[in-house]
Amino acid sequence: MDMAKLGVYLQLNGYNLVRDEMIADYIVVTSCGFINETTKMALEQIERVKKYSAKIIVTGCVPDTDIEKLKSIFSGIVIRNTELEKFDDIFGKFHKLKDIPDVHDMAWGSKYFCVEVSRGCPENCSYCATRWAVGKLHSKPVEKCVSEIKLFNESNADKVVINGDNVGAYGLDIGESFGSLIQELPLVENGYSALIDSLHPKWLLKYYDSILDAAQKNTLGMIVSAIQSGSERIIKLMRRKADMNQLKKAFLELKKVSPQLILGTEVIIGFPTETDTELEESIKFVLDTKIDWGHLFIFSPKDGTEAAAMEEQVDENIKIKRINHFIEQLKANDYLVHKEEKSQAVIFCRKEVCMKSREADNVFWKHCFDTICPNEQGQEELLEIYRNTGDISNTIR
Ligand code: SF4
Repeated sequence: MDMAKLGVYLQLNGYNLVRDEMIADYIVVTSCGFINETTKMALEQIERVKKYSAKIIVTGCVPDTDIEKLKSIFSGIVIRNTELEKFDDIFGKFHKLKDIPDVHDMAWGSKYFCVEVSRGCPENCSYCATRWAVGKLHSKPVEKCVSEIKLFNESNADKVVINGDNVGAYGLDIGESFGSLIQELPLVENGYSALIDSLHPKWLLKYYDSILDAAQKNTLGMIVSAIQSGSERIIKLMRRKADMNQLKKAFLELKKVSPQLILGTEVIIGFPTETDTELEESIKFVLDTKIDWGHLFIFSPKDGTEAAAMEEQVDENIKIKRINHFIEQLKANDYLVHKEEKSQAVIFCRKEVCMKSREADNVFWKHCFDTICPNEQGQEELLEIYRNTGDISNTIR
């Protein structure tokens, strides 16, 4: 999002965007410090572009999550996420960054029209370094969110995404709430079906009545709510306390009232002190609630976080054994699974969701195709096998 906006800003200030790094005057590297692997990728990218004559500007999360690592390889210009106005010192001759309207395209592709309702996060998850980079909560006024979402009709996108760094915390800083925002957005009038990203379970439960009401009116196409673990003890250690029984009931009821709603989640495997039994609780939660789509991440201790300092870190080999066991259980229960080589992150999707995606009218059914299937050819092959046999169990990646 920031990079798309930055592109517009640079052009309005008279700069051309070029793909060829050899001829660039400036190279802006945006960095993700979510887990150690993404930091490593960002640092490799910075090392790679250092050979060009262009001035390099590093922005994104890494200046906040891994400053020492960054300093060890780079001494050039750094602009933190929370001080983007510093771009004006270099480029803002005609237009200031704050005056550029938000761009609604998402990095995932042009099919998604994003309304970012807030930035920043007020939580304190014990494993998270991202919150240092995203800073304090800043919510847009409700009227602005409403006027932005109306622009979807003029776009070429086919999905509305409502997001924020912690979307459920929307409004805490301006006397509003996510529950009332959902009711205010003109979803029903416009026949929108929205994807709600990054909805912490505690906010899903707090504003459940509004969310259930929206689901009953079929205005929600997808909700991504990261459980991170099925064990209440582990969730407490993560400082993400939520009543898992209540959450389970909520997930099941949402699917019942709106069967086409896709529920997504994230699970961390091998959090400090996690036992085999607690891993089984995570697996059970996913299978019992028939989560449609999700990510599994191996716990990666980020320097400076509370979780990284915890004693009883889980052995790396055990983490791998556990994630492989989780994958086996998913496959045995009709999920497609794809493991990303570099980050070892796993994406999973219910086979039925994946296979119905092309044929159903609801664009959110296509989500797994956008994310799991590596290429169009792979999608076509899967679909063909499914059409001919109704079974793709032998083709699971
Ligand atoms: S909700 Fe937790 S994990 Fe997400 S950004 Fe906030 S502190 Fe980090």
